[in-house]
Amino acid sequence: PLPVLSASNLIKTYKLADGREVRAVDDVSLTVQAGDVLGLVGESGCGKSTLGRCLLKLMDVSSGQIVFEGRDITHMREATLRPLRQRMQMVFQDSYASLNPRRRVGALLAEPLKVHRQADGQRRSSIAITHRLEELMDLVALSRDALERYPHEFSGGQRQRINIARALALSPRLIVADEPVSALDVSVQAQIVNLFADLREQLGLTYLFIAHDLAVVRQISTRVAVMYLGGIVETGQTDVVLCQPAHPYTRALMQAVPRPIVGGAKPPSLKGDIPSPMKRQAGCRFHTRCPVAQPYCAANVPVLQRLDDGRDVACHFPVA
Ligand code: SF4
Ligand code: MG
Repeated sequence: PLPVLSASNLIKTYKLADGREVRAVDDVSLTVQAGDVLGLVGESGCGKSTLGRCLLKLMDVSSGQIVFEGRDITHMREATLRPLRQRMQMVFQDSYASLNPRRRVGALLAEPLKVHRQADGQRRSSIAITHRLEELMDLVALSRDALERYPHEFSGGQRQRINIARALALSPRLIVADEPVSALDVSVQAQIVNLFADLREQLGLTYLFIAHDLAVVRQISTRVAVMYLGGIVETGQTDVVLCQPAHPYTRALMQAVPRPIVGGAKPPSLKGDIPSPMKRQAGCRFHTRCPVAQPYCAANVPVLQRLDDGRDVACHFPVA
């Protein structure tokens, strides 16, 4: 079957004011199949958010190719892209920043329904919009009178439900969720992750779920991609990758994990600093911090290779 989304050899470079280049996304290829939840994990600053934005064309890539539902959207004009945009939505971490505080929730959620036409080219009637808004409140388990209230009247978790409702308004196929629970209280995180899981089942959604919290990713993802310094170092089924990590970086991330509860931003127990993505280093991107690095690693770039269990690992000496 046709993947919902696939990307090949994506590169995203930024030019800094002083002319130096940062390679935030460095030759990333990935595929998201229908119904998958691909968890994208890695420390902050590894390029997860940039990659997510590039994939949804909220940002242009420097090179590479992005295919959504079989169509190459990499250089698609905005007018051609617009009907496809309904089918790919983003949910951000900061539930408050993405909601205009001066507008009622009903007006915020009606916006996309007014802007985009229906599949038959017709505009939605105001009755149809009202019905849809009520449906959306039911989907995210908020009461319908929430539509009459303002964003500040809600808790962080409720606001994230509003953001999810807005992302669902146009019945998307794919949702890219960028750290959607990181800003929430621990007690609320599981509720929102469960909501994502329920909605996926109920609506047949596909997710790219970006998170630095492995417990969250383990809870919701069918597959995982581990990112380090702009590149994917290991990817495969969640239980395979997170239960028996083969890449030394994934292992280090997992060792930082044993925590009783979901939540919190604990730095992984890795030695040394993350090298600057500005200095393009030779060899393995992880070799400056890798506990099992060999001299060979400093000079030779490992590419993703399939192991017998179906996962892909970019390491010369993966743990079998
Ligand atoms: Fe470590 Fe070498 Fe594997 Fe890189 S290639 S992760 S340095 S063992
Ligand atoms: Mg981020």
